[in-house]
Amino acid sequence: MAGPLKLATKYQVDALRNQIIKHLERDWPSTIDDWDRVDDYTHKKQSAALQSPDGSLDGIVPDPVYAILLARSCDVPQILPTAFYVLSRQPTKPKSCPASGKAHIHSRSLLGINDMENLAFGRENIACKISSYDLLDIDNWDCAGVCGGFIWTVWGEFLQTMIVDKDPLRVLLSELRGLRSSFPEYGVNLCASCQRKMADNIIDARSALFESLSDMFGLV
Ligand SMILES: [Zn+2]
Repeated sequence: MAGPLKLATKYQVDALRNQIIKHLERDWPSTIDDWDRVDDYTHKKQSAALQSPDGSLDGIVPDPVYAILLARSCDVPQILPTAFYVLSRQPTKPKSCPASGKAHIHSRSLLGINDMENLAFGRENIACKISSYDLLDIDNWDCAGVCGGFIWTVWGEFLQTMIVDKDPLRVLLSELRGLRSSFPEYGVNLCASCQRKMADNIIDARSALFESLSDMFGLV
């Protein structure tokens, strides 16, 4: 797609350029609902690909390095926030698939120094944001029952998973989809009101996080 888009940009073929940009925006959307749909689909394809004998993700899931290069060279900045986010959750050193020897992700050495700085900046900001208590507004948790003391335990579980997975949007979505009132492993039970409040706060936190991706990666 890079070739046609560059040509369409160079020769100002608007119809072709718009069609290609629409395709890119579908892979790298700018609303959280569209993002969740794309990411669910990506994870399904990724799981299936990793089970295959080849194990390569080449051409299976959109490559953020490629998207960033295209966005920069053809002036499509609206796809950058999600492309950088996906890059930030990938390991810095690509792992090879033992079966094929192929890297699961493309080398980010193709990116320029400015893009690498944006990536590092975004990772730092996301790490700071997810480890702050205001992400889920739990510092002043108000419960008529006894949940107040449990909230920190629940929060600790979320935080640990977010740090390990480096994908807070997906971790919080999984927590939301399977939000429990009972955490027997910690001896914790949340009242119905706190469970609802936690769900609302997760929805708000995800929206705020998604909306701030441009700022987090220093793209504005
Ligand atoms: Zn409660």
